[in-house]
This record gives sequence, structure tokens and C-alpha cells, in this order.
Amino acid sequence: MLQLAIIGGGVAGLSAAIYAARYGIECKIFEQKAAGGQIIVSANVENYPGVPGPISGFDLIQNFEKQVKSLNVPMLYKNCINIRGNSDGKTVEFDDGSQIEAKAVIIATGASPRKLNAKNEAKFIGRGISFCATCDGFFFKGKDVAVVGGGDSAIDESLFLSKLVNKIYVIHRRDQLRASKILQEKAFNTPNIKFLWSTVVETVNGEQKVESLALKSTKDGSSSILKVDGVFIYIGLIPASKDFCPPILDDKQGYIVTDSRMSTNIKGVFAAGDVRVSPLKQLITAASDGAVAADSVNRYLIGLS
Ligand SMILES: Cc1cc2nc3c(=O)[nH]c(=O)nc-3n(C[C@H](O)[C@H](O)[C@H](O)COP(=O)(O)OP(=O)(O)OC[C@H]3O[C@@H](n4cnc5c(N)ncnc54)[C@H](O)[C@@H]3O)c2cc1C
Repeated sequence: MLQLAIIGGGVAGLSAAIYAARYGIECKIFEQKAAGGQIIVSANVENYPGVPGPISGFDLIQNFEKQVKSLNVPMLYKNCINIRGNSDGKTVEFDDGSQIEAKAVIIATGASPRKLNAKNEAKFIGRGISFCATCDGFFFKGKDVAVVGGGDSAIDESLFLSKLVNKIYVIHRRDQLRASKILQEKAFNTPNIKFLWSTVVETVNGEQKVESLALKSTKDGSSSILKVDGVFIYIGLIPASKDFCPPILDDKQGYIVTDSRMSTNIKGVFAAGDVRVSPLKQLITAASDGAVAADSVNRYLIGLS
């Protein structure tokens, strides 16, 4: 039986692997897509302590992977669909029909972008609607685009787009941003970024690709049409928790509840990173969670908790 199965190869999972391997715990990472998770699409990371940057998410993750490989932790490309078991061990099931037994599990499956729920949204994903300016911004060179959201990601990606596209309309349902002051200042001083406050997207219009958005004011209910060629959506995250860990207590949004040692309500099952209830969802907190979770697994395996 494997000592530790780490589900998810993002920053939380990779950090957990580094710490677990250095404790001498035999572990494997199970990742459904590619190592790195959400940050892989970011062009500029500037706030990871010790890495003054700017560094791309891809390059940063290469360093994480190098460290994990040097510790001989294998990464297997499998999509976890269920975790079950008791105090003797857990069974982790994958969608290819295979399963493994492990004494402990760390769930580090992160989160994925929340959708708008606007009419026609599904039809235009990949045809003008994107969740990643770094990946798709180039396709909109010289064009007009909308960015929906008011947090760090929305403003960060607007600033990135401002160097590529003609004009950016930041559509935000409130009348002020949630983004950090430093990002706000940069955005307010960028001439081709325009803010549409207290506004939501109701419908995405177009034939083959996005041509315009039907907008509605959250203040007076008035409607308007905004002509754009693309829409970038940054309105939050959905935790990748629900499908495969129903026994674990979730809060209303589906994040996994843990204590400060990353323990869930099931003995031997831990959670780390963006998938758990936490006040800040960043690289540094994901890395920290991974380290704490691995330490807790170590204590669990030697019978200290
Ligand atoms: C565009 C963007 C820019 C950002 N910029 C910054 C920044 O500059 N600085 C910063 O600190 N933070 C930034 N963040 C936030 C940061 O990326 C996240 O907080 C961090 O990556 C979370 O790491 P994680 O390992 O918890 O989750 P994730 O990165 O989401 O990784 C989870 C991994 O688990 C895998 N997985 C999911 N479900 C399963 C399953 N069922 N089976 C197997 N594998 C599974 C996923 O494929 C993924 O690889 C940014 C986020 C985005 C989206």
C-alpha cells in the first residue's frame, strides 16, 4: 500500500510532494491534466517571495517540477473520481477504472474559473469567450475586448491585454474594484482601459463568434449593447471538490473544510491549496498548505495524530 496519494499537481500538490519526500514518505502525485494547475497560464508572477520576477507561471512551475523530480516523486496522469476507505487505508478511484490503495491522501485539486451564466455563453467559449488572457490575448490583437470582474485576476489580465488590444472594457457588477490598490492605480492610469461600473452581462451575441454583449445596469436596470470581439471572464473560482469527496464537509461554495493542520473530517484525508476554505488563494498559501499537509501526514503515519 502506498503511504501517500497526492491528488492534484498544482503548487499545493507539488509542495506537499517536496515536503513528504523529504520526510521519507513514499508518495505519488495523480494529476488529471498537466503539472502546474492554474498558474501555468499566467504571463507574469511578481509576488512569489524569493522570486523577484516577473516570471511566467510556466517557468515557475518548471522549477517546482525539477525539485519534485529530483526527489523521485512520480507524477501519474489520472483523473481521480472518488476517495473512500477507513482508518486502515483509502482507496482512490480514477476514471480509467483503475484504483490505488494509500494510507493517507492529500486532496490538492484546486479550482477552476466560474462562468457568467449569461445567455449563449456556452456557445461562444473558445469562439471569443476566454478565461485566460495570457493564452488567448494574442488572437485579439488590435481589437476591442471586455474583461468581466473586479478582483486581482481581472485587473492583472486587463493590464496584460492593454499592450495587445485596442480597447478594454472592464465590466464590473459593483461600483468599485476588489483588486489590490497597486493594480487599481495601474489600471486607472492605462488609457485604453475603460470601466463600466454596476453592470452585468446578460447575453453574448454573435453568429460564429462574439460580436457584442447585451449589458444591464445593476443600479437602474437599463440595457445597452457593447460591441466587442472577445470577452475574458474573471469572476471567481469553483473548487474541484464536489465530484469525488462527498464525505468531506464542504462550506456553501463547495470548498473543503480543514483545520489548521489541513485535516478534513475524515482521518487520513487532508486538503491543501485553493480547494479548501481559506482566506487567501495564492501561490504562497497553496505552497504553505502543501507543506503543512505533508507534515500532518507524517504525524498521522507515525501515529502522532
Ligand atoms: C490567471 C491567474 C493568475 C494568477 N496569478 C497569481 C499570481 O500572480 N500570484 C499568486 O500568488 N497567485 C496567482 N494566481 C492564483 C494561483 O494560481 C492559485 O492560488 C494556485 O495556483 C492554487 O494552487 P493549487 O495547487 O491549490 O490549485 P491549482 O493550481 O488549481 O491546481 C490543482 C491541480 O489539480 C488538478 N486536478 C483537479 N481535479 C483533479 C482530479 N479529480 N484528479 C486529478 N487531478 C486533479 C488540476 O488539473 C490542477 O493541476 C493566479 C490564478 C490565475 C487563474
